[in-house]
Amino acid sequence: MSNERPRNFASDNYSGICPEAWQSMQEANAGHEPAYGEDRWTHRATDLLREVFEFECDIFFTFNGTSANALALASLCQSYHSIICHELAHVETDECGSPEFFSNGTKILLVNGEHGRVPPEAVVKTVNARDDIHFPKPKVLSITQATEVGTVYKPADLDALSETVRRRGLKMHMDGARFANAVATLNVSPKEITWKVGVDVLCLGGTKNGLAVGEAVIFFNKDLADEFGYRCKQAGQLASKMRFLAAPWVGMIESEAWLNNARHANARALQLQNELKDIDGIEFLAPVEANAVFVELPAEVIKALREERYWRFYTFIGEGGCRFMCSWDTTEDDVAELAKDIKELMALKANHKLI
Ligand SMILES: *Cc1c(COP(=O)(O)O)cnc(C)c1O
Repeated sequence: MSNERPRNFASDNYSGICPEAWQSMQEANAGHEPAYGEDRWTHRATDLLREVFEFECDIFFTFNGTSANALALASLCQSYHSIICHELAHVETDECGSPEFFSNGTKILLVNGEHGRVPPEAVVKTVNARDDIHFPKPKVLSITQATEVGTVYKPADLDALSETVRRRGLKMHMDGARFANAVATLNVSPKEITWKVGVDVLCLGGTKNGLAVGEAVIFFNKDLADEFGYRCKQAGQLASKMRFLAAPWVGMIESEAWLNNARHANARALQLQNELKDIDGIEFLAPVEANAVFVELPAEVIKALREERYWRFYTFIGEGGCRFMCSWDTTEDDVAELAKDIKELMALKANHKLI
């Protein structure tokens, strides 16, 4: 542990709780409150999220993103249906079969697309491939905003997808673990990339945005929220001291920290991209449109970054390469130090001085 750095680039969930979330957790800790979501904080957080989305949506707070996605998807499907998503989608690669489990066996159908985005043509192709009774009927398109490789869908992209799925009777689910980062990049109001472009349900990420724990499942199509509370309870996702899941959202929204944190993290990713882009031999694997930077680095450089310079980052996400993820508390100095180490090691590598 002695060589651990105070902050790292492995994931935005390596970060702690941001001050605004912490402050309202503390305020929520005064005295008694009704349990199971009947408290003032939950009501307030719900109202504030409705203001953010400018929509009278139905909102549920869960502990994490896996359950939010899985339960939301389960509420859109019967077990004989199928869910279309990108092959890199978290629901496919990182949820241990949770969507299939909670939907009692709904099949996930994978499509490919550049930089983590699902193209409308891929959806059409999958839907048109079969329409007989022997194949699970496509019922939902699940997309991730921002995507697993740090890109975003623009409003027009979403519009095209929505048009495609709606004509074919499919629903649209959005995994928004990094929704705030997408809003910050696109500089749009949240409605422009959700209900206005046909998103039926959004799983809004809080944890990676600066909360201790918690995501919000937001139904714009309120019919689909019917009995969703039972699903949450059955899945162990109904917090009895719900105020502590809800209160941080109040602080985050009232202070606009949810957006400022995302802007900050995105800016650090752009900084890293700028610092790396002139180094010979560095290849970016995806455009930097949110808070992640994906680059290809030589194996010796990766090893030295980890073992000699004590940086942490993932190499198994998306299409491989190194993922450097920035969070709300990543500093300019953190980025500069990392970039300096990468530059030095790349130079050593070029001179055959790295083994
Ligand atoms: C982190 C993440 C989630 C949520 O993961 P949990 O660990 O279950 O909270 C969902 N989708 C994406 C794209 C993520 O990156």
